[in-house]
Amino acid sequence: MQEIFSHVLGRWIAPGPGAREIADAATGRVFARAGNDSLDFAAVLEFARARGGASLRAMTFHDRARMLKALALHLNANKQVLYDVSYATGATLSDHAFDIDGGIGTLFVYASKGRRELPDAHVLLDGGPEQLGRTGAFLGQHIYTPLRGAAVHINAFNFPVWGMLEKLAPSLLAGVPSIVKPATASCYVTEACVRLMTDSGLLPEGAVQLVAGGLGDTLDLLGSQDAVTFTGSAETALKLRATPNLIRNAVRFTAEQDSLNASILGPDAVPGTPEFDLFVKEAAREITVKAGQKCTAIRRIIAPEPLVAAVIEALSAILSKITVGDPRAEGVRMGALVSQEQKADVLAKAAIIATEAECVFGGQEGFAPIGENASGGAFVAPTLFLCADPDRATKVHETEAFGPVSTIMPYRDADHAANLANRGKGSLVASIITHDTQFARDVTLEIASWHGRVYLNDRDSMAEATGHGAPMPHMVHGGPGRAGGGEEQGGIRGVKHFMQRTAVQGSPAMLTAIGGRWVPGATKTPGPAHPFTRRFGALAIGETLVTGPRTVTLDDIEHFASFTGDTFYAHMDEAAAARNPFFPGRVAHGYLLLSFAAGLFVEPKEGPVLANTGLDGLRFLKPVVPGDSIRVTLTVKEKTPRNADYGEVRWHVRLDNQDGEKIAEYELLTMVAV
Ligand code: NAP
Repeated sequence: MQEIFSHVLGRWIAPGPGAREIADAATGRVFARAGNDSLDFAAVLEFARARGGASLRAMTFHDRARMLKALALHLNANKQVLYDVSYATGATLSDHAFDIDGGIGTLFVYASKGRRELPDAHVLLDGGPEQLGRTGAFLGQHIYTPLRGAAVHINAFNFPVWGMLEKLAPSLLAGVPSIVKPATASCYVTEACVRLMTDSGLLPEGAVQLVAGGLGDTLDLLGSQDAVTFTGSAETALKLRATPNLIRNAVRFTAEQDSLNASILGPDAVPGTPEFDLFVKEAAREITVKAGQKCTAIRRIIAPEPLVAAVIEALSAILSKITVGDPRAEGVRMGALVSQEQKADVLAKAAIIATEAECVFGGQEGFAPIGENASGGAFVAPTLFLCADPDRATKVHETEAFGPVSTIMPYRDADHAANLANRGKGSLVASIITHDTQFARDVTLEIASWHGRVYLNDRDSMAEATGHGAPMPHMVHGGPGRAGGGEEQGGIRGVKHFMQRTAVQGSPAMLTAIGGRWVPGATKTPGPAHPFTRRFGALAIGETLVTGPRTVTLDDIEHFASFTGDTFYAHMDEAAAARNPFFPGRVAHGYLLLSFAAGLFVEPKEGPVLANTGLDGLRFLKPVVPGDSIRVTLTVKEKTPRNADYGEVRWHVRLDNQDGEKIAEYELLTMVAV
């Protein structure tokens, strides 16, 4: 008997009182036990908050992103260990790609986004400063800082690795320690993954703890700085979110629960089109991958009434070739459900669906899974239902059979298709397979508010499309209503779920000190030398160069016009320019001013500034007429390390005329050697 340990307080703890037995999904043989009711959950939480939280908060976003990347590389190099133990969950080798490789891929994406989209700092700024007073002496700035508590991640059985890593990646990047509680049925895979992570030595102590088995009184011990992220059934979510202590302390509670996801076939996608084949292929994949145990799987196949028979025929042809059995056996393409309890649940739900729909493919009768000991396994045959009258039906829109079961239903027009999709009362994803952009738009606008993700696919996108059922770390995962009302991932959006947004108000100097980004109005300090001669590490936030003036002449304007070909009338024709409400007469080109500005502030000799990589937020605020002069104020606004060789410096650039009036403003991006 294998013992599945918890990892808490820096130690591995064996199963104890209250431990539960776990069976192999494909054979039914009990092979492991997990759980220990005697764990001291108050101490576990305190260890996370005090040890893990302090260590993570001492790191910058970039430090934590580097840690995620190192973890991803380590798991990737050792993923065979996870593959080997995953077969017992009933998963096939290709299912492992969704769970294990998908989880590792999520770590990689967060590691990369953390380095590219977050500062190398402890504070994340939300937007720019807001001027709250008349002169700009009092401003506001929204900031994000990490919660001071712990994140409790409760996962479903179907993705023991991805389910953990898609929650850990954003919480660790945010700087919040986590307690992972996997579903008991597949917790041995999560345990193996946590062992790899802790053995790697990459995680600070207390950053990740694992509780195999029950969570005891943890939810009663949480405070307002903690967060719970739950994935599982609607029933459990309802019970947990109603925990009085969570309500009393306004503890953040995110729920990702079951949903009746739909896929809609466009009326243009008749047999013989690439879209028809694509639709059928995606539907078959969603029914069979992970034996249909995917929260995003297509439960309702919504097809134009005249195409229903063709869809059934084509889908049945694919499903009839799917070999089902022990995932370790040769040639098996679909494995088992995770447990006998799940099998019983799916068959019971299928029976409910059968009261409103007829079975047109599959079913358990005569079904014989492959494998020596498969008779003890939790196998369910791929099964298709047809609900001929989905308007009168109710159960097909609300019963989630969490297995290889899907129901086809006919629709009349775009409105009807959208109406049927929305009868799931909120789902994680709906797909529309069509080459008709108008149909896609009509349906999307009707269904978007009911679905967390809308997936459009056709001949143009199919070679790169990521799949109806695959949540991408870049995009939000979650959905309204029945799907739990939660939201995870979505790139850096997911990181913010573990941080507090605070409105900070004060002077420009205060906001510069707190945010680490220079705010106009804060002190500008002259540097010891021209800033373009100074390396990345030497430049200080607020360091400023003020150039001498340059007069702009009519000759300059005409030369620039003929040289570039930009002979727009506002620069060339005095009368026409004067008729324009913006100009007093002929004015200098904005691009001429930018070029003159560069001529004023650059240091020509070879030095640490390597490249100008762009301009942000350029505004021309006041016209410049012949005879005006301009001067430039160049200030180091923000510094972002990029690699060992160079970093990005964001300069605030302001152009003034001879009267001190602001004529242009922008941010200049340069790469500067470290
Ligand atoms: P579940 O029975 O609701 O369990 C989910 C998790 O909650 C498990 O870790 C479970 O632990 C834990 N749990 C149950 N009672 C608890 C309690 N009183 N206190 C603390 N934790 C408790 O769901 P499941 O059967 O594992 O997963 C299948 C369901 O999850 C399906 O309905 C599916 O649609 C949904 N799902 C949704 C998503 C999504 O992202 N939206 C993803 C995957 C799955 P034990 O296992 O130890 O009981």
